[in-house]
Amino acid sequence: MEKRSCVVCAATFYVLPQCPNQIYCSARQCQQVRKNRWQREARKDPDYQENQVRAQQRWRASHPDYWRTYRAEHAEYTQKNRELQASRNAKRHKKP
Ligand SMILES: [Zn+2]
Repeated sequence: MEKRSCVVCAATFYVLPQCPNQIYCSARQCQQVRKNRWQREARKDPDYQENQVRAQQRWRASHPDYWRTYRAEHAEYTQKNRELQASRNAKRHKKP
C-alpha cells in the first residue's frame, strides 16, 4: 500500500486502493476541510446550484411551518438576526 502525507495536516497515511487520488487523511478535521473545499467548488457548478434550489423548494413545501415555529421558539435568535440583517441591508444600500 502506498503512503502519502496529508495536504492539510501533513500526517502520513496509507492510500486506499478504492481512492487512488486520495490526498487527505481520514482525520475528522481533514475530512471537513476536504468537504468544505468540495462544496466551495460545487457552488460554482450551475447544475449543482439548480439542484440545490429545487431540493430547498421541495423541503420548504414539505415543512411549511418550520421557520415560523423556529422563530416563535427562539425569540433571542430572531431579534439578533433581525438586527444583523438590518445592518447588512443598510450596508448594501450605501454602495453605489
Ligand atoms: Zn490530515
